[in-house]
Amino acid sequence: MTVDYDVVVVGAGPAGLTSAYHLARKGFSVAVLERGGKPGEKNVMGGVLYLEYFRRAFPDLTPPYEREVEAESHFFISGRSVSTVSLRKYDSKSSAVTLFRAKFDPWLAEIVKREGVTIFTDTLFTGFEEREGKIFVRTDRGDLSARYLVGADGVNSTVAEKSGIHGKLPPENLFASVKMVIRLSQEEIERRFNLSPGRGIIIDIIGHPDFNLPGGGFIYTNRDSISFGTGAKVSFLIRHRVSVFDLLQTLAEHPFISRLIEGGELVEISTHLIPFGYPSFFSPVFARGRVFLTGDAMGSTTGDLSGLPVAFLSGIAVSKTIEELGHSGDSSRLYLRHLAEVGLLKIFRTTRVYHLLFRRSEKVEKYLSKLLFSASLCLNSIGETGIFSEIKEVFKEREKFSFEGREVRDLVQEKLDRRFAEGFITLDEPDRCLKCENKNCLKMCPGKVYEESDSGIVVRDYRCLECGFCRYFCEYDNIKWSYPPGGKGVIYKYG
Ligand SMILES: Cc1cc2nc3c(=O)[nH]c(=O)nc-3n(C[C@H](O)[C@H](O)[C@H](O)COP(=O)(O)OP(=O)(O)OC[C@H]3O[C@@H](n4cnc5c(N)ncnc54)[C@H](O)[C@@H]3O)c2cc1C
Ligand code: SF4
Ligand code: SF4
Repeated sequence: MTVDYDVVVVGAGPAGLTSAYHLARKGFSVAVLERGGKPGEKNVMGGVLYLEYFRRAFPDLTPPYEREVEAESHFFISGRSVSTVSLRKYDSKSSAVTLFRAKFDPWLAEIVKREGVTIFTDTLFTGFEEREGKIFVRTDRGDLSARYLVGADGVNSTVAEKSGIHGKLPPENLFASVKMVIRLSQEEIERRFNLSPGRGIIIDIIGHPDFNLPGGGFIYTNRDSISFGTGAKVSFLIRHRVSVFDLLQTLAEHPFISRLIEGGELVEISTHLIPFGYPSFFSPVFARGRVFLTGDAMGSTTGDLSGLPVAFLSGIAVSKTIEELGHSGDSSRLYLRHLAEVGLLKIFRTTRVYHLLFRRSEKVEKYLSKLLFSASLCLNSIGETGIFSEIKEVFKEREKFSFEGREVRDLVQEKLDRRFAEGFITLDEPDRCLKCENKNCLKMCPGKVYEESDSGIVVRDYRCLECGFCRYFCEYDNIKWSYPPGGKGVIYKYG
């Protein structure tokens, strides 16, 4: 016997919860399936929530936040120099807040439950079948049936792949990212970043200390910790055999960055993929039949890699589409119309143009990186003449950046909680590894899941961080990766 709902939503992240909330308020019976033990424990983000978008979806609510943002800064870094451009607003209303997903998602889930939505945690969606005018949804804890299925299951979307809306996203449309949470006292954060009590700063880092690496990163302030992270396109990392920890380590060693993040206690390290610029410009497809995609599962964030605006706007659009269906036959077009109405198609198209112009070709991207590096150098040299008061140079030689005397990559496993699971990652043909020269898995898996032994490659899948990066870096397509069973695997306490 299967339990019957109007709509089954896969994923209790912001996209799934927004979709469920708006559908329930329109009178639909809704079930949400979440593979985590509770919403938020599998999810990662840098931590900036732009309130304008949040209020479009939840006008009367105030989210649990860390700090209201009073300052935004852009750091242009090159070699050992940095130029900063900052905006500080000391008015009472802030347009953004910083937050942790491990707090935000469960809070939003409680609000959604109050609208009558059932959330099944510890439940992994595995596939679906359409018959007799219904969708039979398969999970590792039994089946459900529904009239509509919404895939809000993030960047490695099983719903997108099983429905054929899109396959695995291409590696040039994905960023692999890594983030650290570093605990510092409130007073130290306010002193170090020159902040009013309780207020925060978001810092975008542009460029990289190493001329040959693509640049980018962030530092965001929380109540009593800071979030520091970086990342690069998956295709770049694979082509140049660079791991996310190489990026993190060199960025952390930049003298200006290291003095902002040093001295605290490292409490969490997480890795995740971010989709960027995928949907086609003229004919994007986000639905097929009675199956819809929302949030990261659609295949793109905004131009600055913010995914929450996409999650909120697509959640609103899908609820309007399902409400109107019955009056119109073509769900795909109707969904596009509502995505256009909420402004999301425009955001995607701008992102796509940016992607096509600068990010599609590695040559152009390299030139752009070098141009930025040179521009940073010029700015930094002008800074020496004292034209810009905010331009600073730091020449002090520094030690290798470390926590507890160890490199960050060696601390990952110790800083994570997990519920033990194994058997969800396998090698298709272990013998193929014998002829593999590069052995990307050894260098590039952030969880050190793959190890070399006398008998070949050993898979320690209980160490997996569930980022999905290994679907891309094995040149022989030899790794069969899937999520662990519902409720098992990594638990992010901050996210
Ligand atoms: C390092 C980093 C920094 C970022 N910084 C920002 C930022 O500052 N601001 C911003 O707006 N965005 C940021 N983003 C992007 C943002 O985190 C995502 O775009 C956002 O989380 C997307 O929300 P979602 O609900 O679509 O997907 P997710 O948050 O990924 O949620 C998907 C949910 O589906 C569940 N799920 C997946 N598969 C299954 C399955 N088969 N069965 C059951 N459940 C399943 C997952 O457990 C998860 O809870 C950042 C991302 C990263 C990685
Ligand atoms: S990269 Fe793939 S083929 Fe090569 S050693 Fe690792 S798992 Fe084997
Ligand atoms: S095994 Fe794959 S999904 Fe797990 S941490 Fe390594 S790269 Fe990420």
